[in-house]
Amino acid sequence: MPAITVDDPSTLSRVGDADGTVRPVVSVTSAIRQLEGAGFPVWRGFHGLGFADIDPFLLLDEIGPLTWAPGTAKGAPWHPHRGFETVTYVLDGDVEHHDTEGGGGLIGEGDTQWMTAGRGLLHDELPSERAFREGGRQHGVQLWVNLPAAAKMTDPRYQAIGGRDLTLLTTDDSVGVVRLIAGRIGEHAGPGDTHTPITLAHATLPPGTELRVPWDPTYSAMAYVLGGDGTVGDEARPIGEHQLARFGAGDAVVVRAAADASVPFEVLLLGGQPIKEPVVQYGPFVMNTEAEIDEAIRDFQTGKMGRTPADAAGDVRRA
Ligand code: MN
Repeated sequence: MPAITVDDPSTLSRVGDADGTVRPVVSVTSAIRQLEGAGFPVWRGFHGLGFADIDPFLLLDEIGPLTWAPGTAKGAPWHPHRGFETVTYVLDGDVEHHDTEGGGGLIGEGDTQWMTAGRGLLHDELPSERAFREGGRQHGVQLWVNLPAAAKMTDPRYQAIGGRDLTLLTTDDSVGVVRLIAGRIGEHAGPGDTHTPITLAHATLPPGTELRVPWDPTYSAMAYVLGGDGTVGDEARPIGEHQLARFGAGDAVVVRAAADASVPFEVLLLGGQPIKEPVVQYGPFVMNTEAEIDEAIRDFQTGKMGRTPADAAGDVRRA
């Protein structure tokens, strides 16, 4: 799990005081394994939960972890999105992407790609040529962040957030590392610029250590385990790999790494301002009403969300 880290966490700023009420654990649920795109396995992190439970998020896929043999790595070929933002955070391996708005690039280890689909675009998300040829380990996360009705048809936008741009913090005991990708933790802010106010961070906690972090009381709060074992909340509820904890109201979030663990506890912390609007999803389109979904399908079919390079080249050949 390379992500981005430091040799000596004690050189980093601390996350800050977590005063007030520690949020209680509302539920711990387990992800299920499914195939996505052209056939790459993901853990579907919000399995069993409704949209109201995960507001303002829509989907959390843990990509891998797995090791591809040379020549076998798969991705997601050209497909559309409308009505939300996708956030792709890569821990191991890489993802190469292109979109019909001119965006594209390589998301390498520790990097984040933030794509506002807004009114719609087409994109592909594939292993790089090197990753396909050589194979290797792949581990990452894709999070879908909903947009409020007023912003669903905004212009598409793309942000490349390099691993080195992340705000790195440490725990009170100066041994854990917290990578702040977007939003605020206490006095600190991450580089991601989001339409919907959220906080997203990846923490690495050595065995037996605790993270006690201030959390905006107006935000939802969740923790998803990317590796290792530990507990959540002051009630020390056990949680392990591919499990998600949802927290209730309060001012702080607490997670602890198991004392007898042989590997660090890797936790994604996420939450945001709930949007509290109706959610109607049809695959890659997430809107507020059925009529808007019908419109999205029509706009996709008539090329209003863009045309893939292959389709565009076909037009030229036919011309
Ligand atoms: Mn996609």
